[in-house]
Amino acid sequence: MTFDHDIKASVRTIPDYPKPGIMFRDITTLLADARAFRRAVDELVNPWAGNKIDKVAGMEARGFIIGGAVAHQLSAGFVPIRKKGKLPHTTVRIAYSLEYGIDEMEMHVDAIQPGERVILVDDLIATGGTAEGAVKLLRQIGANVVAACFIIDLPELGGAAKLRAMDVPVRTLMSFE
Ligand code: AMP
Repeated sequence: MTFDHDIKASVRTIPDYPKPGIMFRDITTLLADARAFRRAVDELVNPWAGNKIDKVAGMEARGFIIGGAVAHQLSAGFVPIRKKGKLPHTTVRIAYSLEYGIDEMEMHVDAIQPGERVILVDDLIATGGTAEGAVKLLRQIGANVVAACFIIDLPELGGAAKLRAMDVPVRTLMSFE
C-alpha cells in the first residue's frame, strides 16, 4: 500500500456539504487516526527536517491543529492567523477573497520578526484565496515565507499554482479531482 493511498483513505468525503455541489474533504477522520495523523505531519515537515524554521503560521481553524503539530516537530514557534476580531493584541489585517465576496484575516503585529523564516500551514488548498491573503499578510510584516504546506490539494481550482506564482514553494500530500 502506498503512503498516499494509506493516508488518503483516512480522509472522509461528504458530498453536498456545506451546500449542493461541494465535495467536502473532511480531515477529522485523518486526525482521529493516530497513524495517519503522525504520518501526515511527518511527511509535511520532511523537506525541512534539520533546517532552521522560526515560526509556523496556521490558518483558522484546521490549520491550528496541523500547524501546532508541525511547529512542535520543527522546534518552531506557532503563530495563529485568525478571522478578524478574535485576537486580543494589536494586529495587522488584510482582506482576502472567498468564493463569494471578501473577508478579513489578521495576526498579532509582533508575532513574527522581520526576516524570520516561516512555513504556512492549512488542511487544504482550493482556490488559494485564503493562503494568498496569508502570504501577503506575512510579507507585510517582513516574514520570509519559506513554504506553504497543505495535506490536501484541489489542483483544478488552481490555488497551489497561484502560490507558486508568488514564489512560494508548495507542499501537498494528496490531491482530489
Ligand atoms: P481557498 O481559499 O479556496 O483555497 O479555500 C481554502 C479553505 O477553505 C481551507 O481553509 C479549507 O479548509 C476550506 N475548503 C475549501 N474547499 C474545501 C473542501 N472541498 N473541503 C474541505 N475544506 C475546504
